Amino acid sequence: MSDKITIAISKGRIFDESIPLLAKINIIPKDDPKKTRRLIIETNQSDIQILVIRATDVPTYVERGAAALGIAGKDVLLEYQGDGFYEPFDLGIAKCQMMLAGLKKANQNSTNPRIATKYANITRDYFANFGQQVEIIKLYGSMELAPILGLADQIVDLVDTGETLKANGLVPLKHIADISSRLIVNKAAMKMKNTTIKSFMEKLSEVIRD
Ligand code: AMP
Repeated sequence: MSDKITIAISKGRIFDESIPLLAKINIIPKDDPKKTRRLIIETNQSDIQILVIRATDVPTYVERGAAALGIAGKDVLLEYQGDGFYEPFDLGIAKCQMMLAGLKKANQNSTNPRIATKYANITRDYFANFGQQVEIIKLYGSMELAPILGLADQIVDLVDTGETLKANGLVPLKHIADISSRLIVNKAAMKMKNTTIKSFMEKLSEVIRD
């Protein structure tokens, strides 16, 4: 393991909301990931670097120790179902809800509904709790299209303002989980880089409480 601490951060909204938090503890990226083609971004702290990667890859990098730390949505962590990292605290950013949604005008009472989602594990577990059989249709984006085109009866997706559902004639049906971004820490790194990681975590938890 190198002496540098690598923080893997999900692209997009989570990255945008993580940067002000990191700035509060004086970790400032030297490049803007939207402007550079570099995949590893150095920071003003010579021992801390940042990876900006696909949300679903963050737990893999951290579980396998390629990154000591990660920032990922609870949706991704629930779906990943790994236990190779610690999840010490909620960063309280990129908040939204995971919802079951369907077409406003549709009959929602099918006995074996087809559910389109990128969250196959979460969806399976959610319905298994009610003993309900569902057919899961795995998609990688734009889930809202599936009920409109008859590919699925309902969807499981993240909802923030509800505008995307509304614009596509869908309504929320059931709340599945509250989602926000979490810090995750590789288990071996927590032991081997204990001083640096502990100090990082202490500073971060202080600015979150503010
Ligand atoms: P909204 O129209 O504000 O309800 O946002 C819904 C769209 O944004 C859907 O495509 C969601 O997948 C996506 N979305 C909402 N919140 C988040 C989040 N915290 N992280 C990632 N995607 C999100």
